[in-house]
Amino acid sequence: MSNMAEFDSLILGSGMAGLSVAALLARDGERVKVLEAHEYPGGYAHTFPMGKWSFCAQVHYVFGCGEGETIGLLLEALGLEKTVQFVRLDPEGFDQVVIAGERYRIPNGLEKCRVRLTHRFPREAKGLRDYFSLLAKVAGELASVPDKRQLSDWLTAPIRFSHVLRHRNHTLQDVYGQLGLSPRLQAVLAGQAGDYLLPPGRVAFLLHAALVSGYDSGAYYPRKHFKYFVDQIVGTITARPGCEVLLNQRVERIEVREGRVAGVRTADGVLHTAKRYISNIDPGRTVELTGRENFPARYLNHVKREYSCGSFTMYLGTKDIDLRGYGFGSFNTWHYPHEDINAIYERQVVRNDLSDPWLFMSTPTLHTDEPGLAPPGGQVLCIATSCAYEPFRDLRASDVSAYRRLKHANKERILDILEANYIPGLRKHLAIQVVGTSATNERYCLAPQGNAYGIALTPENTTSRISMSTPLDNLWLCNASAGWPSVAGTVGSGIKLHQLLTGKAI
Ligand SMILES: Cc1cc2nc3c(=O)[nH]c(=O)nc-3n(C[C@H](O)[C@H](O)[C@H](O)COP(=O)(O)OP(=O)(O)OC[C@H]3O[C@@H](n4cnc5c(N)ncnc54)[C@H](O)[C@@H]3O)c2cc1C
Repeated sequence: MSNMAEFDSLILGSGMAGLSVAALLARDGERVKVLEAHEYPGGYAHTFPMGKWSFCAQVHYVFGCGEGETIGLLLEALGLEKTVQFVRLDPEGFDQVVIAGERYRIPNGLEKCRVRLTHRFPREAKGLRDYFSLLAKVAGELASVPDKRQLSDWLTAPIRFSHVLRHRNHTLQDVYGQLGLSPRLQAVLAGQAGDYLLPPGRVAFLLHAALVSGYDSGAYYPRKHFKYFVDQIVGTITARPGCEVLLNQRVERIEVREGRVAGVRTADGVLHTAKRYISNIDPGRTVELTGRENFPARYLNHVKREYSCGSFTMYLGTKDIDLRGYGFGSFNTWHYPHEDINAIYERQVVRNDLSDPWLFMSTPTLHTDEPGLAPPGGQVLCIATSCAYEPFRDLRASDVSAYRRLKHANKERILDILEANYIPGLRKHLAIQVVGTSATNERYCLAPQGNAYGIALTPENTTSRISMSTPLDNLWLCNASAGWPSVAGTVGSGIKLHQLLTGKAI
């Protein structure tokens, strides 16, 4: 069977990068078709219902929503800037890091953050000055690196981008070593490490600087929740004549003839054709679906990278309790049992031991007054932490009840930690408990190894990203790995690919 209607662009996957480029091309008047395997659009940003509650699969807060910033630019280009609004998380402490019971509030404003931390760590005033000064310089230089580099950019790079060049191969831990910061202060400054899911000893310092400065300019939550945000973008595509977003359409084969993609076959046997193919599917998987024999060895090496780790996620629907009375609010809480974040990650991800994990806790029903996630009197608490992949995958494949028992044991352990440290008697108020592992990420979002942020955000993978163009001239990649992760990062990747394809800024 063949679907003969000729589309201009076929987008494989409806993650935020795929939807962004699809929506911009549709706006330009192209005939666009999006094929999504899942029953909901949005990839990791999709929302699923469970009883009377709804949960966004993985996204909790975003940056880049201000005027002229990435997400703001996309919404403006699509005419959605008034429809999709964002609320800011508490600027006095949008992220709150709790280390062995001590709470540190991360405010907007790097200078304010420095001054606050200097009060808490007076002996480290110099280290803090040096750290924040370096962070600001690196973030400033990164923001001014042009997408298309001219000869003059290369010639002036040693002066204009001196801090970026000096630290391009450094981890956050390397920089800590250079600055001589205490273990406790190191942990506080890496408190948002879950936003890249790597410990200081492995994460690229440049990535850390970009992330910290991204949220520093504003941490946001969509006023009407993530489902509304995703649905509005999808709506701009389906409203265009001849454009479609098709769900439950898993791509099983990308067919190649004479060095070009000739069509894409979905699980129902239908061949979908277009002039251009944009894969929002992981780059390695895209190669597998296309057939490795269609790519030169050099390219196969280019896409072969270490993945970021997976996540253990708990979606809790509460009733008859106001989490505001327990230290939660319009902010996220990062719990660490002690200050050695490198050791905590190693134990969880390498040794598969979730007995004393770090925890990210977010309360979307306290970020906005808009209904939509919980019934009256109900609230949502989402918990996430890093975890291994293989043990969950293997158990799920070999013994589903043992897999469920492992999930249950980890969940109960985490509930013990929550009751002991934050919300005594929480279990009595739980109306819904849903648990996901890295195997769940793979099952529902088709993320290889359940990876959370595409390829691991190490120095090597930060200085060299997977390119959006491929050796097949009508096949393009656009996602967290061929581009950048996070909602702002993937939206930015969609905007960048649109510009590459059309030569037009949005
Ligand atoms: C635990 C966790 C917490 C996170 N928290 C945040 C946060 O708070 N803020 C933030 O900004 N970012 C967060 N992220 C990261 C962010 O969600 C991702 O970087 C981003 O959403 C990835 O978008 P993407 O476009 O790369 O595609 P993905 O979200 O990976 O989506 C790809 C899509 O392609 C589809 N697909 C795959 N294979 C096929 C196929 N064969 N056929 C058809 N369709 C296919 C999938 O079903 C999926 O819908 C988090 C991620 C995780 C895991």
